[in-house]
Amino acid sequence: MPQDIEGAVQISTDAAPERSERCRIRVRGVVQGVGFRPFVFRLAQQLDLAGWVRNDGEGVEMEVQGAPGNLSALMARLTKEVPPQARIDAIEREACPSQAQDRGFTIRPSEGGAVTTAIGHDSTVCPDCLDELFDPANRRWRYALINCTHCGPRYTLTGRLPYDRANTSMAGFAQCETCQDEYEAPTHRRFHAEPNACPDCGPQLSLLQADGVRVASHDPVADALLHLLTGHIVAIKGVGGFNLVCDARNPEAVERLRSRKARGDKPFAVMVASVASARSYARVSAEEAELLDAPERPIVLLDKHSDADMHLWGVAPDLDQIGIMLPNSPLHYLLFHDEAGRPIGTDWLDEAQPMALVMTSANPGGEPLVIDNDEALSRLSGIAELYLMHDRDVLVRCDDSVARLSQGAPSFIRRARGYTPTAIRLAHKGPPTLAFGSYLKNTVCLTRGDEAFLSPHVGDLSNPATCTAMDATVEHLMTVLACRPEWVACDRHPDVYATQAAHRYADAHDLPLIAVQHHHAHIGAVLAEHGVDEPVLGLALDGVGLGNDGTAWGGELLRVDGAQCDRLGHLQPLALPGGDRAAREPWRMAASALHVMGLSEHIAERFGHLRGADRIGALLDAGTRCPPTTSMGRWFDAAAGLLGVCDVMHYEGEAAMRLESLANAYGPALALPGGWQIDRANTLDLMPTLHALRDTRDAHRGAAVFHATLIAALEAWVIATARSEGLRTVALGGGCFLNRLLTEGLSRRLSVRGLTVLRARQAPTNDGGLALGQAWVAIQTAMA
Ligand SMILES: [Zn+2]
Ligand SMILES: [Zn+2]
Ligand SMILES: [Zn+2]
Repeated sequence: MPQDIEGAVQISTDAAPERSERCRIRVRGVVQGVGFRPFVFRLAQQLDLAGWVRNDGEGVEMEVQGAPGNLSALMARLTKEVPPQARIDAIEREACPSQAQDRGFTIRPSEGGAVTTAIGHDSTVCPDCLDELFDPANRRWRYALINCTHCGPRYTLTGRLPYDRANTSMAGFAQCETCQDEYEAPTHRRFHAEPNACPDCGPQLSLLQADGVRVASHDPVADALLHLLTGHIVAIKGVGGFNLVCDARNPEAVERLRSRKARGDKPFAVMVASVASARSYARVSAEEAELLDAPERPIVLLDKHSDADMHLWGVAPDLDQIGIMLPNSPLHYLLFHDEAGRPIGTDWLDEAQPMALVMTSANPGGEPLVIDNDEALSRLSGIAELYLMHDRDVLVRCDDSVARLSQGAPSFIRRARGYTPTAIRLAHKGPPTLAFGSYLKNTVCLTRGDEAFLSPHVGDLSNPATCTAMDATVEHLMTVLACRPEWVACDRHPDVYATQAAHRYADAHDLPLIAVQHHHAHIGAVLAEHGVDEPVLGLALDGVGLGNDGTAWGGELLRVDGAQCDRLGHLQPLALPGGDRAAREPWRMAASALHVMGLSEHIAERFGHLRGADRIGALLDAGTRCPPTTSMGRWFDAAAGLLGVCDVMHYEGEAAMRLESLANAYGPALALPGGWQIDRANTLDLMPTLHALRDTRDAHRGAAVFHATLIAALEAWVIATARSEGLRTVALGGGCFLNRLLTEGLSRRLSVRGLTVLRARQAPTNDGGLALGQAWVAIQTAMA
């Protein structure tokens, strides 16, 4: 940057060089492990400033001395030219006495102290490192753990703050002389890059057979690739844990992985080399390309090309979208590089590369993601046929994030690797609050001041291992944020592990505990991220959550005013014949609907081939083992069951996802006139629609009409309630809003009618964002 230097000289000449001022500057935000000190060092050199900079528990601190104009220039450039991964939340400057002897500028060792700073997030290989990775003349050519201050792992290898090598899983690797020189050279891209490593001194790859015996391989990447291309399942160590990987173009391998993971028809995500390669399988808009290519590297849900299933048979069956991600570690890049014939440079990434790899989380039996090498050998035995790993430990488990673009902006289905621990900013500071989240898709949330930190995805608390992982996540979050809660929040459901853990924690530390109704929390999560304080109308469309009356809610119209939540309306309850089973078997919900229509005799006729169909009519007549629910999700299931789209689900949300795919394939449809009723108690009943669709043979048309009518019904319901309550803002929350057709259609219609529509953007709209909402409600209660 020669112009900058000239500019600096110019300023110092103008500003009477004999006069020198000194000030102390404190920078808060994501400023550690992101190349911030080298950035300050370079600025100080260019601006002819003396002094020092260091990391401490509160972020970055510096003292700088020089011409007043240059100090001002430094302040301006600190905020304007921040390194790519840094985020400045606050800069404070105070004058201090000049030190006549101070000449040079130094980077001082880190100070400990009270930690209130944030660690950076994991990000994929930066362009500079990518150039080196594919340059045969570079000493890091094809080195699978290349990184620098602008890229690489952060959160997943950091045990505690401050972010120094000694506090990371690189602590055991002494740098060679060359690496040490880079690390100490203030102008080098690897200056204080804590995970800095090279083939001589850093972690090494290894290849292991299924039985754990090490393969004598000179080139583990090439050998692993060969196995992948010949149909084997390889467990590959990623940034936040292991993935199970196979060739997505090999139907037999995909099927074998599916059956070994006991995954039913649940869609797999695939990894391809580049945006150009993704375009071979799916439509990718400019915004979607940006999201795919973002350093955080989420899995992005994209609209499949019509022939995608021919090439990727069985990867995402019966769905119109497919999850695609680009390489998020150098090791991933090397597999594609090898397959492409080891080209020099990065131009090959601009062309479509044919290889597509299924990349699925290595979490057998719904248990937590495998992160440890030995653990991989035991827990993935019987699934993986080969292991490609290295000896840099993953300290913090972090699944792949899943996002999609909706109405021009990203929204999350799962928020984990790359995005944790980026804070969600709240409107106000509040007491530190720890929220324990939900049973399904558990995450926990800890707030500190006006920042809310949502943990990575923990998973469904259906097994002891995941419950233990949740406990560990709580501990790690408190450690890495150096924050102890003053308030505790949880769901109202007493039988859920998260709720019990919250009670235990509150009791043990003598803290107040707030139990937040599930759908209040869903709306709270949306209000938290949008910083809304005023009363709003909340539309919660969800799977299930315990209601205030002890029944299962999930289609709720709420008035939310901070800690206060009133139920203004709900969906007509449906009976769940057989209890929880009905939530997994849409045919039971269809039977429940037929019973309401007075058509019980059709149940056996339609579903006679399914177990329990002969008894379900009697069950419904007697009303035994038929708890009612207002869940929107079960209405979707009933529609899917009646249309013959899905009798029994193999994964959560399958019926609704397939229904949405069919509706998208059909295209626009008109709402059924008279397709719903709203009674005087403000209960919305969609039974007229199901009645009309019950004998529809065209499932595509049926699905499209169901969506169109649902949107029209919700529009009428919300508008009427907003008017009578005098509310101008509606917040949409709950798992059903993962349905893009519903969310976008309804948002548009409500906006046109003059309402401000708020949706979940930074946190998932499903239960993965629930902890944020719980924390927000607890803070509102604490501050009230
Ligand atoms: Zn880099
Ligand atoms: Zn080295
Ligand atoms: Zn929910």
